Amino acid sequence: MSTEAHRHFIQQIIDTDLAAGKHVKVITRFPPEPNGYLHVGHAKSICLNFGLALEYQGSCHLRMDDTNPTKEEVEYVDSIQEDVRWLGFDWGQHYYQASNYFDRMHADAIQLIKLGKAYVCFLSQEQIREYHGDEKHGGKASPTRDASVEDNLAAFERMTRGEYNEGKAVLRAKIDMASPNMHMRDPVIYRIRKAHHHNTGDKWCVYPMYDYAHPLEDAYEGITHSICTLEFEVHRPFYDWLLRTLDTPAKPQQIEFARLNLTYTIMSKRNLLELVQEKRVSGWDDPRMPTISGLRRRGYTPAAVRKFCETVGITKHNSLSDVALLEHAVRDDLNKTSSRFMAVLDPVRLVIENYPEGQVELLEAQNNPEDPAAGSRQVPFSKTLLIERADFMEIPEKKYFRLTPGQEVRLRWGYFVTCTGCVKDAAGKVVEVRCTYDPATRGGDSPDGRKVKGTIHWVSEAQAGDVEVRLYDRLFAQEDMKHIPEGSDWRTLLNPTSLQAIRGKVEPALLAVAPGTRVQFERIGYFCTDTKDSQSGQPVFNRTVTLKDSWAKAKA
Ligand code: ATP
Ligand code: MG
Repeated sequence: MSTEAHRHFIQQIIDTDLAAGKHVKVITRFPPEPNGYLHVGHAKSICLNFGLALEYQGSCHLRMDDTNPTKEEVEYVDSIQEDVRWLGFDWGQHYYQASNYFDRMHADAIQLIKLGKAYVCFLSQEQIREYHGDEKHGGKASPTRDASVEDNLAAFERMTRGEYNEGKAVLRAKIDMASPNMHMRDPVIYRIRKAHHHNTGDKWCVYPMYDYAHPLEDAYEGITHSICTLEFEVHRPFYDWLLRTLDTPAKPQQIEFARLNLTYTIMSKRNLLELVQEKRVSGWDDPRMPTISGLRRRGYTPAAVRKFCETVGITKHNSLSDVALLEHAVRDDLNKTSSRFMAVLDPVRLVIENYPEGQVELLEAQNNPEDPAAGSRQVPFSKTLLIERADFMEIPEKKYFRLTPGQEVRLRWGYFVTCTGCVKDAAGKVVEVRCTYDPATRGGDSPDGRKVKGTIHWVSEAQAGDVEVRLYDRLFAQEDMKHIPEGSDWRTLLNPTSLQAIRGKVEPALLAVAPGTRVQFERIGYFCTDTKDSQSGQPVFNRTVTLKDSWAKAKA
């Protein structure tokens, strides 16, 4: 356990509860509505809830909050389970579906009516809004607010049997039409929906509202601490009212924390769904999406996502987190774990004038200087190599330590070479860089202690693989997507260059890596072979993140 100073406010609440003997076992839950794929905001909630269960040796329930019949799909349920597992968490026996509680919820609604705490209201939606009043004015009572228990029971029975059309009647809690909290002004708790439900089929034509269902789900499962985001703070009085009025055996405590917001992206499931439906991305798992499946396909590790969630912390203040923090987390993790390879993304030929024609030798390259256990591999070397175009300048700028006529550089894992010039086409474009090598520097060191300031990567042209490389960038061009300029559509803020697909030349060992393998292209960045579009011998590489934060530099 962390020290007192580092314990966030939710840990402190739980510590106090346990010390006071309020609970013996901590039970939390993660309750997604299966109407979309999980995103990195959900990851924060998952890490928090499952993390607390682990810390206190309690349990965390995974609950599909599937009370809304029209929006939910099995595909989402499957993806949610996969994503929670991928993040490294286990709900054990505690998998629940809110729709399995429909009978109990309905019985509790009848109980509320019997207690004189709920009534059937026949006002239209518009009238309900009108009668609701506003901050300055109290609301107006519905004409049926004081109907008898018998009449309400009969009316709810008719609602339940499907005798009314959608929108003709609702069940409302009877609380206080003058409450300063609008959520306490007789909120609707059941409505008519003549829709098929993926779990309960056509059994029901009345469905509970979220605010009514959620506290009950928590109470039925014996949740001790029901953690949600800050928007629900104003719903808490109703949460408590309901559990108190029904006198449920368990009285979960609702605790609110600040949701995660991230720069250059959006996290509304509705908007993410639109991006998918309008084919602005290739799917929920498009590597540019802030979804967990998108991050996974992009090459993120579960450890990096967990680390990021830990870094942003748990507070009560809404804020916008810099996506650079997420990128930093994955860079840091991959630096320790991923093997290095050489790949050239913007190739130009480098010809070694004094290297024997037709000779190919194998040079030994260390796989990960950060991890000696990762071993080494052999890289073919020959007279004609490919290097990055940017690693040659005919007329060098200041402090240019790479190839320029007369300058000596190291070829990574290879030899020292000295640039002798270049060949250009009719348009003046460099088509070939020329050099000579020093055979005594094999492996990349000079026996006479001669130093070079630059080391560049390369591949041997004849043996290099030709692969697709997808360079991903931020999905949106605007930093804070909460603030959309008046009258403009959030879609217009999509970054037009968020995906650039190019061909790259890679050392042959990279052709054989399995889909989903994470590697570093030396001096370029971290890449992961795409799990959907890679084929045997033809990997497609997704750029996870650049080696350095190029955005930070651009800003400086
Ligand atoms: P919508 O975007 O449709 O409003 P939602 O993001 O609230 O939905 P849910 O499926 O209801 O989606 O979320 C499941 C849980 O994840 C909730 O407990 C919610 O508090 C939490 N959660 C959702 N978004 C975030 C976020 N950005 N940061 C932290 N927790 C979040
Ligand atoms: Mg929600």
